[in-house]
Amino acid sequence: MQRRELIKLLGLGTIAAGIGNKAFSATNKKVKGPLVLSTWYNQSVTANLAAWKILEAKGTALDAVEAGVQVSENDWGNCCVGLGANPDREGHVTLDASIMNHRYEIGAVAALERIKSPIHTARLVMEKTPHVMLVGLGAQEFAVSQGAALEKEVLSDHAQKSYDEWLKKSEYQPIMNIEKQGGPHMPDPMESGEFNHDTIGMIAMDAEGNLSGACTTSGMGFKMRGRLGDSPIIGAGLYVDNEVGAATATGHGEEVIRICGSFLVVELMRQGHSPEQACKKAVERSKAKTPRDR
Ligand code: ASP
Repeated sequence: MQRRELIKLLGLGTIAAGIGNKAFSATNKKVKGPLVLSTWYNQSVTANLAAWKILEAKGTALDAVEAGVQVSENDWGNCCVGLGANPDREGHVTLDASIMNHRYEIGAVAALERIKSPIHTARLVMEKTPHVMLVGLGAQEFAVSQGAALEKEVLSDHAQKSYDEWLKKSEYQPIMNIEKQGGPHMPDPMESGEFNHDTIGMIAMDAEGNLSGACTTSGMGFKMRGRLGDSPIIGAGLYVDNEVGAATATGHGEEVIRICGSFLVVELMRQGHSPEQACKKAVERSKAKTPRDR
């Protein structure tokens, strides 16, 4: 189902994607790898292909998801992932990412500026530090200490244009509220240019049957400086339990965090729900917990 059809159906800007693993489901269906899945995003097919190349060559799910989402991070032309994305309301592009492997190892970065691959930095946090998350200047300094270039702070042409447009009113409004947009006529964000946030979250299973996931975003366009969404928060934007399944999310991070979205999907799969049922239940819970005035 296309993201926007699903959103129309559920009336809330939140979706989740899940893969069930060995212990999945009351039916005890065993899922076989390799397998890759990512959230809606206009380049997700290219990103999945990059991941697939690695999986096909018997690479690990971890390498696959990192390489997959890097396709989007390296794309200067999109609104919502990587350094070419929309800035915050002060004009700075700040990036969030998280990664998790089949051994419950996790790494995340948040509010990272001027570094091309937040997902790689997140992976380095996981592999080279005793911590699980670095933010802001500390994350940037760590990335540079590990060999990343400190890029110039320039906005891409499209981000500059959107920012200039946004500055005219300077209204902070994540664009995804179905009611405000008049129900089913939600514009195609990529065509209308009205969309100001998105995320690539990718989960994969390798030939060994191991799962990993990666999630990377610039968050909400024109967000408050310092605002974090769900993507760098393990359990919210991403969760992997090798015995059960994996899930990743995109949409309004505030709502995903409120229900520990990805963790919830995995826990529902642990209880025997299929990935599809688990995602549906999680989105329904999110909707039920969202008062109409929020
Ligand atoms: N979940 C992201 C955030 O809230 C944005 C998105 O996926 O659209 O930062």
